Amino acid sequence: MKPQLLTIVVPCYNEEDVLPETVRRLSQVLSGLMKEQLISAESRMLFVDDGSRDRTWELIEQFHQTNPYVTGLKLAKNAGHQNALLAGLTAAKTVSDCVISIDADLQDDVDVMREFVIQFLAGYDVVYGVRQSRSADTWLKRTTAQGFYRLMHAMGVNIRYNHADYRLMSKRALEALGRFQEVNLFLRGIVPLIGFPSTEVYYNRHERFAGESKYPLKKMLAFAFEGITSFSVTPIRFVTLTGFAIFALSLLAFVYAIAGKLWGTTVSGWTSLILSIWFIGGVQLLALGLIGEYIGKVYKEVKRRPLYVVEKEMLLTPASTAYRQ
Ligand code: UDP
Ligand code: MG
Repeated sequence: MKPQLLTIVVPCYNEEDVLPETVRRLSQVLSGLMKEQLISAESRMLFVDDGSRDRTWELIEQFHQTNPYVTGLKLAKNAGHQNALLAGLTAAKTVSDCVISIDADLQDDVDVMREFVIQFLAGYDVVYGVRQSRSADTWLKRTTAQGFYRLMHAMGVNIRYNHADYRLMSKRALEALGRFQEVNLFLRGIVPLIGFPSTEVYYNRHERFAGESKYPLKKMLAFAFEGITSFSVTPIRFVTLTGFAIFALSLLAFVYAIAGKLWGTTVSGWTSLILSIWFIGGVQLLALGLIGEYIGKVYKEVKRRPLYVVEKEMLLTPASTAYRQ
């Protein structure tokens, strides 16, 4: 069988501190796999600069001059991790037999890529990298992540436990992914829906090599919420919350009114009247809010805004023409 073309897609947002090391480590992996003839000599890394405000793109350009494996894609503005990843996957899809996506920060063990490729060659279309231990993550990150996976499962969303976006996908899996046209992108939830043969490879998660997490707690919670509801329409959700609050208040009023009735301090008829007004009002707002959530989703999907805008694409060095469009 002829060696397969692998592209490693790496979304980068303000990663100047870690990038040189990432390039070094991934180059090692690529050349190792090429030597073993597991992948073709045209295999590449594709760095997607997600509108970084530091020197990330300059570094990618510099590396591109000196390292034949480095190619890049610059997004016009910060589109977020998932969209940047999609931009990379979309660009890589046409030229690759398989693509591995990995974060720039070297938290995921790059050495298991060999196992990914071996599983791919064995016939799997999707290979999930699953974190065996998260001891390198903070307690807070571990607990919130665990809560998130539990919640997702409770809501019937089939996502791999402890799998982030470190995975290999075959060309046909990527093509299938391309047919999921949703504006709100939650790749971890979508990939299992594709349904091609898949397997898992376990690894230990390290600490970030350098730089800071771009997912502080607030952003992480937001990401989790996106994953669960597909996305959020805050004002409408507010209506739902109001509905809840009024409903809760009506329960208090219930107790109050009943007590008033029993001790005879109330005008007759007032009790049932006030209870039903509050109760029905609360329930109505609740229902309206719930429907609103779904309308909000439709609204966002219907607009079909582009998920990212590509500003620059790197033409490859003459030696490799793979990415020339
Ligand atoms: N990232 C991105 N766009 C963003 C935020 C993050 O492309 O708006 C990239 C980031 O450079 C990294 C990956 O997504 O390669 C995961 O981010 P990070 O490591 O900060 O998240 P964590 O591992 O802490 O969850
Ligand atoms: Mg990270």
